Amino acid sequence: MTRSTRQNFLGADSDEKLRSVTVGLVGLGGGNSHVVQQLSHVGIGRLVCVDDDIVEDSNLNRLIGGRSADLDPALHKTSIAERMVRGLVEGAEAVFLPCRWEAAREELARCDIIVGGLDSYRARSELEGFCRRLMIPYIDMGMDVHDVGDGFAIGGQTILSMPGGPCLWCMGMLSEPRLAEEAQRYGAAGGKPQVVWPNGVLASLAVGLVVQLVTPWTKAPLASAYLEYDGNRQQVATSNRLKAIAGQPCTHYPANDVGDPLFDVRLMIARTEPPAAAVPADRPADGFWTWLRAWFSRRPA
Ligand SMILES: [Zn+2]
Repeated sequence: MTRSTRQNFLGADSDEKLRSVTVGLVGLGGGNSHVVQQLSHVGIGRLVCVDDDIVEDSNLNRLIGGRSADLDPALHKTSIAERMVRGLVEGAEAVFLPCRWEAAREELARCDIIVGGLDSYRARSELEGFCRRLMIPYIDMGMDVHDVGDGFAIGGQTILSMPGGPCLWCMGMLSEPRLAEEAQRYGAAGGKPQVVWPNGVLASLAVGLVVQLVTPWTKAPLASAYLEYDGNRQQVATSNRLKAIAGQPCTHYPANDVGDPLFDVRLMIARTEPPAAAVPADRPADGFWTWLRAWFSRRPA
Protein backbone atom coordinates (compact mmCIF):
# COMPACT_ATOMS: atom_id res chain seq x y z
CA MET A 1 0.00 0.00 0.00
CA THR A 2 1.25 3.46 -0.74
CA ARG A 3 -0.29 5.23 2.23
CA SER A 4 2.11 7.05 4.54
CA THR A 5 0.61 6.83 8.00
CA ARG A 6 3.13 8.97 9.95
CA GLN A 7 2.33 7.30 13.26
CA ASN A 8 5.72 8.13 14.71
CA PHE A 9 4.73 7.54 18.31
CA LEU A 10 4.41 3.84 17.44
CA GLY A 11 8.19 3.68 16.92
CA ALA A 12 10.71 5.09 14.49
CA ASP A 13 10.23 2.46 11.77
CA SER A 14 6.64 1.56 12.62
CA ASP A 15 5.30 2.39 9.15
CA GLU A 16 7.83 0.04 7.59
CA LYS A 17 6.95 -2.70 10.07
CA LEU A 18 3.23 -2.30 9.39
CA ARG A 19 3.89 -2.39 5.65
CA SER A 20 5.84 -5.64 6.03
CA VAL A 21 2.89 -7.46 7.59
CA THR A 22 0.14 -9.52 5.95
CA VAL A 23 -3.11 -9.77 7.92
CA GLY A 24 -5.81 -12.31 7.07
CA LEU A 25 -9.45 -11.55 7.79
CA VAL A 26 -11.80 -14.51 7.95
CA GLY A 27 -15.43 -13.46 7.82
CA LEU A 28 -16.25 -9.95 6.66
CA GLY A 29 -19.43 -9.32 8.62
CA GLY A 30 -20.07 -6.77 11.35
CA GLY A 31 -16.76 -7.09 13.22
CA ASN A 32 -14.27 -7.51 10.42
CA SER A 33 -15.94 -4.84 8.26
CA HIS A 34 -14.62 -2.41 10.90
CA VAL A 35 -11.26 -4.20 11.09
CA VAL A 36 -10.60 -4.12 7.33
CA GLN A 37 -11.37 -0.40 7.27
CA GLN A 38 -9.08 0.40 10.20
CA LEU A 39 -6.22 -1.78 8.93
CA SER A 40 -6.36 0.17 5.66
CA HIS A 41 -6.01 3.44 7.54
CA VAL A 42 -3.23 2.04 9.74
CA GLY A 43 -1.16 1.06 6.68
CA ILE A 44 -0.96 -2.73 6.91
CA GLY A 45 1.03 -3.93 3.90
CA ARG A 46 -1.17 -6.73 2.62
CA LEU A 47 -4.67 -7.97 3.37
CA VAL A 48 -6.19 -11.37 2.66
CA CYS A 49 -9.98 -11.07 3.00
CA VAL A 50 -12.12 -14.22 2.93
CA ASP A 51 -15.89 -14.67 3.14
CA ASP A 52 -18.29 -16.67 0.97
CA ASP A 53 -21.34 -14.76 2.22
CA ILE A 54 -23.45 -12.30 0.27
CA VAL A 55 -24.94 -9.16 1.80
CA GLU A 56 -28.54 -9.26 3.03
CA ASP A 57 -30.93 -6.54 4.09
CA SER A 58 -30.54 -7.60 7.74
CA ASN A 59 -26.76 -6.95 7.57
CA LEU A 60 -26.93 -3.30 6.59
CA ASN A 61 -27.41 -2.01 10.14
CA ARG A 62 -23.90 -3.14 10.99
CA LEU A 63 -21.90 -3.83 7.83
CA ILE A 64 -19.44 -0.95 7.45
CA GLY A 65 -19.41 0.21 3.83
CA GLY A 66 -22.60 -1.67 2.92
CA ARG A 67 -25.20 0.25 0.89
CA SER A 68 -28.86 -0.36 0.05
CA ALA A 69 -27.88 -0.59 -3.62
CA ASP A 70 -25.67 -3.60 -2.78
CA LEU A 71 -28.76 -5.77 -2.22
CA ASP A 72 -29.93 -6.00 -5.84
CA PRO A 73 -28.03 -7.72 -7.24
CA ALA A 74 -26.68 -8.90 -3.91
CA LEU A 75 -22.92 -8.43 -3.66
CA HIS A 76 -20.47 -10.66 -1.89
CA LYS A 77 -19.23 -9.16 1.36
CA THR A 78 -15.73 -9.41 -0.14
CA SER A 79 -16.85 -6.97 -2.88
CA ILE A 80 -17.96 -4.43 -0.29
CA ALA A 81 -14.66 -4.80 1.59
CA GLU A 82 -12.73 -4.44 -1.68
CA ARG A 83 -14.56 -1.27 -2.62
CA MET A 84 -13.77 0.22 0.78
CA VAL A 85 -10.08 -0.79 0.84
CA ARG A 86 -9.38 0.34 -2.73
CA GLY A 87 -11.27 3.57 -2.08
CA LEU A 88 -9.07 4.31 0.92
CA VAL A 89 -5.68 3.18 -0.38
CA GLU A 90 -4.63 3.63 -3.98
CA GLY A 91 -2.85 0.51 -5.23
CA ALA A 92 -3.76 -1.45 -2.09
CA GLU A 93 -2.11 -4.84 -1.96
CA ALA A 94 -5.03 -7.01 -1.03
CA VAL A 95 -6.85 -10.12 -2.19
CA PHE A 96 -10.57 -10.70 -1.76
CA LEU A 97 -11.67 -14.31 -1.89
CA PRO A 98 -15.44 -15.00 -1.96
CA CYS A 99 -15.10 -18.57 -0.70
CA ARG A 100 -15.06 -20.55 2.52
CA TRP A 101 -11.82 -20.01 4.44
CA GLU A 102 -10.94 -23.67 4.09
CA ALA A 103 -10.62 -23.07 0.34
CA ALA A 104 -8.27 -20.13 0.99
CA ARG A 105 -5.78 -22.04 3.16
CA GLU A 106 -2.83 -21.33 0.89
CA GLU A 107 -3.34 -17.57 1.04
CA LEU A 108 -4.10 -17.65 4.77
CA ALA A 109 -1.01 -19.75 5.50
CA ARG A 110 1.11 -16.83 4.29
CA CYS A 111 -0.46 -14.40 6.77
CA ASP A 112 1.45 -13.11 9.78
CA ILE A 113 -1.69 -12.55 11.88
CA ILE A 114 -5.28 -13.75 11.32
CA VAL A 115 -8.38 -11.98 12.64
CA GLY A 116 -11.52 -14.10 12.84
CA GLY A 117 -15.03 -12.70 12.70
CA LEU A 118 -16.83 -16.04 12.75
CA ASP A 119 -20.21 -16.87 14.24
CA SER A 120 -19.96 -20.52 15.16
CA TYR A 121 -17.81 -22.13 17.84
CA ARG A 122 -17.00 -25.02 15.52
CA ALA A 123 -15.61 -22.68 12.85
CA ARG A 124 -13.57 -20.77 15.44
CA SER A 125 -12.15 -24.00 16.79
CA GLU A 126 -11.12 -25.11 13.31
CA LEU A 127 -9.60 -21.73 12.41
CA GLU A 128 -7.65 -21.54 15.66
CA GLY A 129 -6.35 -25.09 15.03
CA PHE A 130 -5.20 -24.00 11.57
CA CYS A 131 -3.42 -20.97 13.04
CA ARG A 132 -1.74 -23.00 15.79
CA ARG A 133 -0.39 -25.53 13.31
CA LEU A 134 1.19 -22.69 11.32
CA MET A 135 2.31 -20.67 14.37
CA ILE A 136 0.15 -17.72 13.36
CA PRO A 137 -1.21 -15.42 16.10
CA TYR A 138 -5.04 -15.59 15.97
CA ILE A 139 -7.36 -12.81 17.11
CA ASP A 140 -10.97 -13.84 17.75
CA MET A 141 -13.90 -11.46 18.14
CA GLY A 142 -17.38 -12.31 19.33
CA MET A 143 -20.40 -10.27 20.31
CA ASP A 144 -23.44 -11.40 22.28
CA VAL A 145 -26.77 -10.01 23.38
CA HIS A 146 -28.30 -11.85 26.35
CA ASP A 147 -31.89 -11.62 27.55
CA VAL A 148 -31.50 -11.09 31.29
CA GLY A 149 -35.21 -11.00 32.11
CA ASP A 150 -35.79 -7.32 32.70
CA GLY A 151 -33.67 -6.19 29.76
CA PHE A 152 -30.77 -7.09 27.56
CA ALA A 153 -27.06 -7.36 28.29
CA ILE A 154 -24.76 -6.43 25.43
CA GLY A 155 -21.26 -7.82 25.65
CA GLY A 156 -18.46 -9.51 23.83
CA GLN A 157 -14.81 -10.30 23.81
CA THR A 158 -11.67 -9.92 21.75
CA ILE A 159 -9.09 -12.65 22.34
CA LEU A 160 -5.50 -12.99 21.21
CA SER A 161 -4.49 -16.64 20.94
CA MET A 162 -0.70 -16.75 20.63
CA PRO A 163 1.36 -19.80 19.64
CA GLY A 164 2.78 -21.19 22.88
CA GLY A 165 0.15 -19.43 25.02
CA PRO A 166 -3.34 -20.33 26.20
CA CYS A 167 -5.84 -21.18 23.45
CA LEU A 168 -9.58 -20.53 23.17
CA TRP A 169 -10.19 -23.86 24.93
CA CYS A 170 -7.85 -22.93 27.81
CA MET A 171 -9.67 -19.63 28.16
CA GLY A 172 -13.12 -21.23 28.22
CA MET A 173 -14.30 -19.55 25.05
CA LEU A 174 -14.56 -22.99 23.46
CA SER A 175 -15.90 -25.99 25.37
CA GLU A 176 -17.46 -29.34 24.51
CA PRO A 177 -20.87 -28.32 25.92
CA ARG A 178 -20.86 -25.18 23.78
CA LEU A 179 -19.97 -27.12 20.63
CA ALA A 180 -22.50 -29.85 21.46
CA GLU A 181 -25.26 -27.31 22.04
CA GLU A 182 -24.40 -25.62 18.77
CA ALA A 183 -24.35 -28.95 16.93
CA GLN A 184 -27.90 -29.60 18.15
CA ARG A 185 -28.86 -26.46 16.27
CA TYR A 186 -27.31 -28.04 13.14
CA GLY A 187 -24.17 -25.94 13.46
CA ALA A 188 -26.04 -22.66 13.18
CA ALA A 189 -24.91 -19.88 15.44
CA GLY A 190 -28.56 -19.09 15.96
CA GLY A 191 -28.72 -15.71 14.21
CA LYS A 192 -27.12 -13.86 17.09
CA PRO A 193 -28.19 -10.24 17.23
CA GLN A 194 -25.41 -7.86 16.26
CA VAL A 195 -25.19 -4.11 16.45
CA VAL A 196 -22.71 -1.74 14.98
CA TRP A 197 -21.17 0.00 17.99
CA PRO A 198 -20.21 -3.02 20.15
CA ASN A 199 -18.76 -4.57 16.99
CA GLY A 200 -16.80 -1.36 16.55
CA VAL A 201 -15.41 -1.54 20.10
CA LEU A 202 -14.37 -5.19 19.70
CA ALA A 203 -12.89 -4.53 16.26
CA SER A 204 -10.91 -1.54 17.56
CA LEU A 205 -9.48 -3.76 20.30
CA ALA A 206 -8.51 -6.30 17.62
CA VAL A 207 -6.76 -3.65 15.53
CA GLY A 208 -5.00 -2.39 18.66
CA LEU A 209 -3.70 -5.92 19.26
CA VAL A 210 -2.47 -6.17 15.65
CA VAL A 211 -0.56 -2.89 15.96
CA GLN A 212 0.75 -3.86 19.38
CA LEU A 213 2.05 -7.16 17.99
CA VAL A 214 3.88 -5.48 15.14
CA THR A 215 5.28 -2.20 16.44
CA PRO A 216 7.46 -1.47 19.48
CA TRP A 217 4.89 1.08 20.71
CA THR A 218 4.27 -0.48 24.15
CA LYS A 219 7.87 -1.79 24.55
CA ALA A 220 6.92 -5.19 26.00
CA PRO A 221 6.01 -7.80 23.35
CA LEU A 222 2.43 -8.92 23.65
CA ALA A 223 1.57 -12.34 25.06
CA SER A 224 -2.07 -13.40 25.21
CA ALA A 225 -5.12 -11.20 25.63
CA TYR A 226 -8.71 -11.79 26.68
CA LEU A 227 -10.51 -8.47 26.65
CA GLU A 228 -14.13 -8.48 27.80
CA TYR A 229 -16.52 -5.74 26.80
CA ASP A 230 -19.50 -4.92 29.00
CA GLY A 231 -21.74 -2.93 26.70
CA ASN A 232 -24.20 -1.94 29.43
CA ARG A 233 -21.47 -0.33 31.53
CA GLN A 234 -19.38 0.65 28.51
CA GLN A 235 -16.30 -0.94 30.02
CA VAL A 236 -13.48 -3.13 28.75
CA ALA A 237 -11.43 -5.24 31.15
CA THR A 238 -9.02 -8.17 31.05
CA SER A 239 -11.02 -11.32 31.72
CA ASN A 240 -10.62 -13.10 35.04
CA ARG A 241 -10.43 -16.31 33.02
CA LEU A 242 -7.03 -15.27 31.64
CA LYS A 243 -5.76 -14.38 35.11
CA ALA A 244 -7.00 -17.72 36.47
CA ILE A 245 -4.96 -19.79 34.00
CA ALA A 246 -1.79 -17.66 34.11
CA GLY A 247 1.33 -19.81 33.88
CA GLN A 248 -0.54 -22.99 32.94
CA PRO A 249 0.68 -24.64 29.72
CA CYS A 250 -1.85 -25.27 26.95
CA THR A 251 -2.61 -28.99 26.78
CA HIS A 252 -4.71 -28.62 23.63
CA TYR A 253 -1.83 -27.55 21.40
CA PRO A 254 1.33 -28.80 23.18
CA ALA A 255 4.47 -27.06 21.99
CA ASN A 256 6.04 -30.35 20.88
CA ASP A 257 3.10 -31.34 18.69
CA VAL A 258 2.60 -28.28 16.54
CA GLY A 259 4.69 -25.93 14.46
CA ASP A 260 8.32 -25.23 15.20
CA PRO A 261 9.31 -26.90 18.50
CA LEU A 262 12.10 -24.36 18.95
CA PHE A 263 9.63 -21.52 19.05
CA ASP A 264 8.59 -20.66 22.58
CA VAL A 265 6.81 -17.37 22.79
CA ARG A 266 7.30 -17.25 26.57
CA LEU A 267 11.08 -17.04 26.15
CA MET A 268 10.60 -14.33 23.58
CA ILE A 269 8.40 -12.39 25.98
CA ALA A 270 10.98 -12.72 28.75
CA ARG A 271 13.35 -10.51 26.76
CA THR A 272 13.46 -6.91 27.85
CA GLU A 273 13.84 -5.55 24.31
CA PRO A 274 11.43 -6.48 21.52
CA PRO A 275 13.39 -8.80 19.20
CA ALA A 276 11.99 -6.94 16.21
CA ALA A 277 14.29 -4.03 16.96
CA ALA A 278 17.36 -6.16 17.49
CA VAL A 279 18.44 -7.55 14.12
CA PRO A 280 16.77 -5.62 11.31
CA ALA A 281 19.56 -6.23 8.79
CA ASP A 282 18.84 -9.88 7.99
CA ARG A 283 15.09 -9.57 7.84
CA PRO A 284 13.64 -11.38 4.81
CA ALA A 285 11.04 -9.73 2.67
CA ASP A 286 8.34 -12.35 3.15
CA GLY A 287 6.80 -11.15 6.37
CA PHE A 288 7.52 -9.92 9.84
CA TRP A 289 6.52 -13.04 11.75
CA THR A 290 8.41 -15.34 9.39
CA TRP A 291 11.45 -13.27 10.11
CA LEU A 292 10.75 -13.19 13.83
CA ARG A 293 10.37 -16.97 13.96
CA ALA A 294 13.57 -17.47 12.00
CA TRP A 295 15.41 -15.02 14.20
CA PHE A 296 14.12 -16.60 17.38
CA SER A 297 14.91 -20.16 16.31
CA ARG A 298 18.58 -19.22 15.93
CA ARG A 299 18.81 -17.84 19.45
CA PRO A 300 20.21 -20.05 22.21
CA ALA A 301 17.44 -20.87 24.69
ZN1 LIG B 1 -5.30 -24.72 25.23
